[in-house]
Amino acid sequence: MSVLKIRDLTVHYGDKPALQGVDLTVPPGEILALIGPNGAGKSTLIRSLSGVLPIRGGSVLLDGEDISTFTPKRRAQHVAVVPQSRQLGGAFTVRQTVMLGRTAHLGWLGKPTPKDEAKVDWAMEKTSVHALSERRLAEISGGEQQRVLLARALAQDTPVLLLDEPTNHLDLGYQVSLLTLLRKLVDEQELAVLMAMHDLNQVAGCADRVALLVNGQLKAVGSPSEVLTSANLEEAYNTPLDVVPHPKTGVPLITTLS
Ligand code: ADP
Repeated sequence: MSVLKIRDLTVHYGDKPALQGVDLTVPPGEILALIGPNGAGKSTLIRSLSGVLPIRGGSVLLDGEDISTFTPKRRAQHVAVVPQSRQLGGAFTVRQTVMLGRTAHLGWLGKPTPKDEAKVDWAMEKTSVHALSERRLAEISGGEQQRVLLARALAQDTPVLLLDEPTNHLDLGYQVSLLTLLRKLVDEQELAVLMAMHDLNQVAGCADRVALLVNGQLKAVGSPSEVLTSANLEEAYNTPLDVVPHPKTGVPLITTLS
């Protein structure tokens, strides 16, 4: 169980700010959905939390400890990332890729133990990629790659999970099973999950809280019904929208008006 705290975070690309003064807390047992238009800074936030991008100002704390002081190994024991699948190389097999998630847990000889193998089997089973085990990444579809990336992150067995548009490339059935699996893991293992998402109706259905990012700044943070209002969304996405309560669940249902 871990609490992720982002305090006054600023990230630049060269001179250009991509994130400014972002404050967010993700407690254990919560899915926090990060939404916002293209270019708002969602991927930048995920990448700066995962250590891929340097931070210009502010801090990221894990259980009160500044994550920038963590060694890469310690960081990988605490935070797993599901990046967008277009970043994948193709030479490894599916099983080798998922085993990479165990790297930070391996002993000094780097040889997987039966526990590591079991965790990899479990992660591949949960994401339905076990049948692809010996296939190379270059030889599987975008949706299959996306599930392999999720399997790798689950095999990493961390209290914090960051996901960058994880339902991209997935058909509807796999989208639902990914979100159902995440909910189950969050509830059972009290993971803290920060997930960039595009589909606002999926956000309404799966997120505990929602953070709306526009031009690198947080415009709203709160429950789905507090943040997913037509006023917030029309301003952020610059298009007319209607938001009504879902007839069965009561969560916000977002439709475009055109
Ligand atoms: P989102 O994920 O919300 O679509 P990004 O985080 O990808 O947004 O981008 C935020 C801003 O940073 C955009 O203005 C984008 O053009 C810029 N940006 C993203 N990646 C880079 C990069 N590698 N170099 C320079 N600017 C970048």
